[in-house]
Amino acid sequence: MARTQLAAAREGTITEAIERVAERENRDPEFVREQVATGQAVIPANRHHDALDPTIIGREFATKVNANIGNSETTSDLETELRKLHTAVHYGADTVMDLGTGGQLDEIREAHLDHSPVPIGTVPLYEAVKRAGSPEDLTPGLLLEVIEKQAEQGVDYMTIHAGILAEHLPLTDGRTTGIVSRGGSIMASWMEAHGEQNPLFQVYDDICEIFAKHDVTFSLGDSLRPGSLADACDEAQYAELDTLGELTRRAWEYDVQVMVEGPGHVPMHKVAENVERQQAVCDGAPFYVLGPLVTDIAPGYDHITSAIGAAMAAQAGAAMLCYVTPKEHLGLPEAEDVRDGLAAYRIAAHAGDVANELPGARDWDDALSEARYDFDWREQFRLALDPERARDYHDQTLPGDNYKEARFCSMCGVEFCSMRIDQDARDAGEMEHLESTTDLESSPAAEVNLPPVGTHESGSLPSLEDSESSTDAAEASSDD
Ligand code: SF4
Repeated sequence: MARTQLAAAREGTITEAIERVAERENRDPEFVREQVATGQAVIPANRHHDALDPTIIGREFATKVNANIGNSETTSDLETELRKLHTAVHYGADTVMDLGTGGQLDEIREAHLDHSPVPIGTVPLYEAVKRAGSPEDLTPGLLLEVIEKQAEQGVDYMTIHAGILAEHLPLTDGRTTGIVSRGGSIMASWMEAHGEQNPLFQVYDDICEIFAKHDVTFSLGDSLRPGSLADACDEAQYAELDTLGELTRRAWEYDVQVMVEGPGHVPMHKVAENVERQQAVCDGAPFYVLGPLVTDIAPGYDHITSAIGAAMAAQAGAAMLCYVTPKEHLGLPEAEDVRDGLAAYRIAAHAGDVANELPGARDWDDALSEARYDFDWREQFRLALDPERARDYHDQTLPGDNYKEARFCSMCGVEFCSMRIDQDARDAGEMEHLESTTDLESSPAAEVNLPPVGTHESGSLPSLEDSESSTDAAEASSDD
């Protein structure tokens, strides 16, 4: 048996996972195999993750959205952590990163893997630092031990901060916001304390061997991503990117799948440049971006500042978007923040797919528009990206069942409803009538995009009850 999805694809084998993602994406399995074989797409699917429904991440496929969850020092219980997983999957996360740094890390990770239909990612460096007691006390051996244990548990992909090198550190001296990646700052402090090269870089080949054995996908961390517009596209960021390109090719030699993480904070006119540069330097390996935030001025609204950049990145070729919540830079997100962040990012991902004319992507838009023009309120709610919110907002002013067929809503009112006026004019023979034409159920994109929110079976997850009131719903999203 081939060791990894990449090895199988290179040998010409269409694996069960390839068959499944081809079905979900409505694509030819042979096309999927080629994309995986050439490293242009990844299927993070640890062979020990039995509950997984495989997902593909690549620029030729529907843009994916990741949500970060995890406990902290102050809160840590299994039920709460499982509820966070449910919240993320319910609101449409395609993958989930467990960034826990509190207690019961092993139990929580195993419970996540037992229940999660979506790929689970981790940053093993966090657990290693907890076990070492401080960043300076980390050792290459401990890092490998933690990585191997998490691989055996079934983690599908891991952020590995191997690209930040000792020679890159002076390049950050003039920065406005220094090193903002949590993993990057840990590695930098270790290198400064020991006067040695990044330990993850030192043992990179050993990590590749572990990943090949269990089929873990690299998510190569961008430790030197800009934390402000002032630092965007600087020498430090691009020097690390060059190293990430080399590490990508080294992992491929081991038949290990790779995606590469990206910024951060980038002004709109430089977003496409960032994506194009990563694609060139990393030979087309999927780009997994955090935002980017396109302005620094809006704490409290950074799900919006970043979703703008995320949509542009998706259009330019980014394959996966890591969500940002309204609490970014301010505090730990709660359940409603997770919902708002995921909504913003699913919009960004879908907008990118529409702009890229992904087969069938716009059918969802067309079906909703037709329901809107037909005043089919129930169908509008069903098709909405967040059906619960669409219904709630409508029913705040017109709650009665009789308003579900009404030819107006409270925005313009019955007298000034432009769609009603337009339809009445057409019905009076003044204009040609338009017929509904979109059959969403038969759309090639239906399997990927069909609402209601959440594309994955979540029946095995704990109830969502009380999640709305739970605090500490997810870890801060940018600190990986
Ligand atoms: S009242 Fe205005 S917003 Fe509401 S359905 Fe009619 S045109 Fe649309």
